Amino acid sequence: MLALRPNCEHCNKALLPAAEDAMICSFECTFCEVCVQQILANVCPNCGGGFTHRPIRPQRNYVNHNCLLDHPASTAIVHKPVDLKKHKLLISMLKGLAPSFR
Ligand SMILES: [Zn+2]
Ligand SMILES: [Zn+2]
Repeated sequence: MLALRPNCEHCNKALLPAAEDAMICSFECTFCEVCVQQILANVCPNCGGGFTHRPIRPQRNYVNHNCLLDHPASTAIVHKPVDLKKHKLLISMLKGLAPSFR
């Protein structure tokens, strides 16, 4: 189950569970869409993988209590601004490869 982290790891923007601009990598590193597109170039600084939009967990109980009320979002802030110099190196190492070829 996804933790649904509360913020962008780089810019610290709040990403509520219903945020449509929350993006995650396969390890659930969480960033806002603006950072993913404009700063990270769809490369996760922690693993080198790509991002996808984070699914939105229903607020109310429709099926078997699989909802935010019973499985609330994480409140643990992860804020580790990206080292932009290091990230440029990682991007150049990947040579424009799409995530499915990395
Ligand atoms: Zn951000
Ligand atoms: Zn990652």
